Amino acid sequence: MKILKTIDLSKTYGKGESKVKALKNINIEIEKGKFTSIIGPSGSGKSTLLHCMAGLDDITSGKVLLDDKDISTLSEEKLSQLRRRKFGFIFQSFNLIPVVDVYENITLPVSLDSKNVDKNYVYEIIEILGLKDKIKKFPNELSGGQQQRVAIARALVNKPDIIFADEPTGNLDSKTTQEVINLLKLCVEKFGQTLIMITHNNEIAKMADVCIKVQDGKVLEQ
Ligand code: ADP
Ligand code: ADP
Repeated sequence: MKILKTIDLSKTYGKGESKVKALKNINIEIEKGKFTSIIGPSGSGKSTLLHCMAGLDDITSGKVLLDDKDISTLSEEKLSQLRRRKFGFIFQSFNLIPVVDVYENITLPVSLDSKNVDKNYVYEIIEILGLKDKIKKFPNELSGGQQQRVAIARALVNKPDIIFADEPTGNLDSKTTQEVINLLKLCVEKFGQTLIMITHNNEIAKMADVCIKVQDGKVLEQ
């Protein structure tokens, strides 16, 4: 089953002389419950593609279908709600809140959405990610790999259908990178979530079920 599709998706930044065609008629299909990696040279359009699929960026033309419904025409308010309820995001920068502990960093998105935290689920994630003895720590007491594991837990806390990850291990050494990606894979497999990840790292790209190659704003192969 396909959870997400793009139909002739194009994205142009700027106007006139400074116009940049970042995406040119992209048609891709993302399989539900699978790990899809997106690779390609710097400036090829990977981040733009991820942002358009995730409703973080408005598109210039085409469609983005989530469960066969076009999300590209939704209002900013509806999109924001969709992102909070259905999507999880992991970026290169961990963006943890320095003044609250690990547990609160993880559960804040749910509390802010005025929903009840499913403690059993949260502890399950914490367990899988090996953060059990860290929940009372503050971000500055953690290594980079530990901080990214907290960011992963935070991305999973709303039980998202799709996790969008943009170079999540770009700031980590290769051993830590492998550990973090393995743990992330364990989580998404356990909960049947769909993972879409941009990476420069061929080893990580190979761990994916599907690899999408982007070049010059086009998809070379899927
Ligand atoms: P990648 O993630 O593969 O490095 P990007 O999606 O970031 O590629 O960028 C694709 C193209 O769009 C590049 O030419 C980049 O300079 C341009 N671009 C990205 N973001 C913006 C922006 N906010 N304004 C103008 N041009 C942008
Ligand atoms: P970089 O690759 O420069 O370290 P990141 O990977 O942190 O940057 O972020 C990539 C893109 O995602 C940037 O355009 C940034 O503005 C955006 N971004 C980062 N964090 C968030 C967030 N929490 N919500 C929405 N967009 C974000």
